[in-house]
Amino acid sequence: MSQLIKSQSQGRSCQGSALLLLPALLFAAPVLAQGSRIRDLDPRAAIIQAIEAQRGRWSSCAADIWSLAEVGYQEQRSTARLQNELKQAGFDVREGVAFMPTSFVASYGSGRPVIALIAEFDALPGLSQAAVPVRQPLLEGAPGHACGHHLFGTASAAAAVAVKDWLVSSRSAGTVRLYGTPAEEGGGGKVYMVRAGLFADVDAVLSWHPGSENDASPESTLANLGAKFRFHGIAAHAAAAPDQGRSALDGVEAMTHMVDMMREHVPSQTRIHFIITHGGSAPNVVPDFAELYLYARHPQIPKLREIWDRIVKASEGAALGTGTTVDHEMIEGVYSKLPNETLSKLVDANLRKVGGYSMTKDEVAFAETLRKSLANQRPLESTAAVTEYRGAIPVPASTDVGDISWNVPTAEFGTATWVPGTPPHSWQAVAAGGMSLGVQGMMVAAKTLAASAVALFQDPSTIEKAKAELDQRRGPDFVYRPLLGDRKPPLDYRK
Ligand SMILES: [Zn+2]
Ligand SMILES: [Zn+2]
Repeated sequence: MSQLIKSQSQGRSCQGSALLLLPALLFAAPVLAQGSRIRDLDPRAAIIQAIEAQRGRWSSCAADIWSLAEVGYQEQRSTARLQNELKQAGFDVREGVAFMPTSFVASYGSGRPVIALIAEFDALPGLSQAAVPVRQPLLEGAPGHACGHHLFGTASAAAAVAVKDWLVSSRSAGTVRLYGTPAEEGGGGKVYMVRAGLFADVDAVLSWHPGSENDASPESTLANLGAKFRFHGIAAHAAAAPDQGRSALDGVEAMTHMVDMMREHVPSQTRIHFIITHGGSAPNVVPDFAELYLYARHPQIPKLREIWDRIVKASEGAALGTGTTVDHEMIEGVYSKLPNETLSKLVDANLRKVGGYSMTKDEVAFAETLRKSLANQRPLESTAAVTEYRGAIPVPASTDVGDISWNVPTAEFGTATWVPGTPPHSWQAVAAGGMSLGVQGMMVAAKTLAASAVALFQDPSTIEKAKAELDQRRGPDFVYRPLLGDRKPPLDYRK
């Protein structure tokens, strides 16, 4: 595969002078009619240029979604903003798929291959922040785009439109799709779309994520299970009649104590974290209701299922010992992300073709101030570079892209949308994502997505290799069973 990329890129550099003429050639139908020779030329330079020409349009789309900052399953206006762009570009848009009002699938073209891009657009609660390099919430406690999903959705839409334009101008067969996937942050929107069979005819998925470097090395993430454990007790006056009460909060506390002790006796790659989402209403009332929202993660799905069974047992033990009752509702259940090196190497080659960017003077000034608040400071010039390809890298995080990646060959890469060294889910990520730095990285992503998609349309043999790799990685006996079971999308999980 790397051999193939190498020879292609050598071919590209030999055709430097032809490439300069390509923008004019590509969109001129009479020239295309001359025959297949034109199609053999590399169209990616023209596509990259076409996306750059639309920088203002996509920048304002991202700014709008950043300002809306809508949380999972409540992204009505953000999804409408993206859908409008796609409808205007001639896509057929199906909205509200898989019982999620804010989801959509936008399609253009017909036949195979079917190349899919992913758009996320949900914000995170409590991380409101102005686009300034010091901590300054726009509205205290309100949501903010701390994972850069406004850029994520916009870059993917920009790429989908550019690929569609290329399908038209080159008269190529095939379908480009954009999947609008709500509630990535804990709502698992993609899982319901996979479960509904919406990816069944997709040949390859290209995705990306905002970050603080340009890097196409594939990540393998942790499978993740999350649930709300609800304890029910008996209310009573906490001073006058405590003997008649049974505290649901005691149930929660007993459970967290057992789970904390369990940490020593689970494999070291395990992650368990929780918050108490309801702990009672007043100190002088024995709480008759309390709720614990807990996640557990592990790289291997069967191992995670075992750990999860022990956590559920801990909840039952806690209820038994405190005279309360407990039930739980599964909220989150995502697979680990399965790397696909065939696709990731192709994306890496295209990311290198696009290249990084140098910050403007204003961006450097912004970044110099912001980085003083970062624990991990990296050189600002690194946005201009593309990180060396390092093969699959384990990352202790989770994404619902995981479920897609076990069903369709999937590549996901990152670009520098934030000041180098910025962690996701931070106010610093919201700040940079709300100004031109975020747009710079977003444009790199859009161009890389579009160039990679076109490369796949032009070379179906790469898709076949990617599918063979998927089969080999998941093993012959693999059957996809969603970790969420048959539950409906938790449309109210942020309410
Ligand atoms: Zn996130
Ligand atoms: Zn994210």
